Amino acid sequence: MVRTSPLRGGGLEFKSRPAHQKGEQMMDEAYKKAVNLVIKNIQKAGRYITAFNTNIDAIVKVNSTSLRINKKTEEYIKKSLSSGFKREIWKIEDLYLALFLSIKRGKADEWLISRKEVYDDIAKRFSPIELRMGGQAGIMANVLGALGVETIVHCAILSEEQCSLFEKNVYAVRKMNGEYKVVPVKDAAKKGIYSTYNWIFEFAKGTEFKTETLQAIAPRDNRFIATWDPKNSKMEIDKDFKDGICGLLKNVEWFVVSGYQLLRERYNGETYADRIKESVSLLKEIRKKGVKIHLELASTHSLKIRREIVKKVFPVIDSLGFNEVEMTSFMEAMSKKVIDEHDSVSLYTGISEIMKKYGNIRRVHAHDLGYYLAITKNYLPTEILRDSLLFSSTLAATKAIHGRVTRKNIKDGLDTPISERGKEMIKKLSNHLNDENFESSWCMELNGKSLSAIATKVVKNPVSTVGLGDTISI
Ligand code: ADP
Repeated sequence: MVRTSPLRGGGLEFKSRPAHQKGEQMMDEAYKKAVNLVIKNIQKAGRYITAFNTNIDAIVKVNSTSLRINKKTEEYIKKSLSSGFKREIWKIEDLYLALFLSIKRGKADEWLISRKEVYDDIAKRFSPIELRMGGQAGIMANVLGALGVETIVHCAILSEEQCSLFEKNVYAVRKMNGEYKVVPVKDAAKKGIYSTYNWIFEFAKGTEFKTETLQAIAPRDNRFIATWDPKNSKMEIDKDFKDGICGLLKNVEWFVVSGYQLLRERYNGETYADRIKESVSLLKEIRKKGVKIHLELASTHSLKIRREIVKKVFPVIDSLGFNEVEMTSFMEAMSKKVIDEHDSVSLYTGISEIMKKYGNIRRVHAHDLGYYLAITKNYLPTEILRDSLLFSSTLAATKAIHGRVTRKNIKDGLDTPISERGKEMIKKLSNHLNDENFESSWCMELNGKSLSAIATKVVKNPVSTVGLGDTISI
């Protein structure tokens, strides 16, 4: 979103070229122009707010030595594999079960740690190689801040350690001398409070988890996340933020909300529905003041919680972002089926259905490996929409190469090759839309809406894949 609004009227001439002229060089040219345009205009963007989940990620590199387990754990994994498991970490054996599954499938996954004792045990067993900004709200705030966009971030725990991980241009809300103020986040830290970590276990392709009777070999680089985050798991809103934010919305263009995936079905005396209700009443108040709301989805296991998000949050937002797997699971919550989630036509159909059902949603941005697809209604001209996607692909590639984005290192994202899978997916969508030009223009107008799908830059050996989706959608 930040990339687009300043650029009205600055589209490329990409669309008018004949299909046969397409090719790597022309695509690269389009990427370069889009990035230059956005960077030139970014100062004109209004303020952003990102909420609610900000945390600290402790990065652990997993290898066969750290995966050595005892007989009891081995038996536990075997039993769970044959008789079922809960996808929650109640004891240390559950962590190894999750790692085994994640490595075997080469899939990113996230389970909640359910007891403080297990969190402490993990902290004793594994040493992080790095502490990184975590949580969608924190990651998005840092990308925006690094690009020069003033961003107010919500942190459930404003510890000094947490605040030290923010980039420039990031602010927090604090009550000072009886008045709510927007202050640079580094000056907003509360002394004497401490953060807990979410554990990110990264593994490389070929990593082996092997015992006498079990074997898993990672088919690709990926990660498993063990989350311990009592405040964010309840979507607890910081009091200063909750009470002060509505009076601090001057120049704020977008409120970007995320973190519903961390909710649980039950708490002491409350349920997920109560927690969603509290956040939604804040969203409504903010929206009433003219600020647009973007919701970024994430993998949410509970169907009950997904249904409540669809029912209560979808009607109060203007924009929605997700990946292909998240779309399938939220379509299920809308009692709809996706035929093949790894397919551009299915993604297009799913987005169209969501926008048809929720007329308030004017923008949907979906990402899959190798391509992105976005549709807007009464919001952006097609070429501008496409340029915004080209920019976000460059940002994601930059983050995959360096782990963080700066204005300077964006050029490395630009030098990354464009995905062949992505090109195939765009071709497939062009055929479906029956528009030959779309394959080379990557954008079109359709039934009064702007549609764009682009093949993206995919980095061969990313330093990390955490937070790429968040970087893409803002
Ligand atoms: P997260 O939950 O970490 O934010 P998602 O699963 O939502 O991530 O999105 C990850 C997205 O990142 C993919 O859909 C893909 O578009 C992009 N991506 C993944 N790997 C790479 C890579 N190596 N280079 C560039 N982009 C990537």
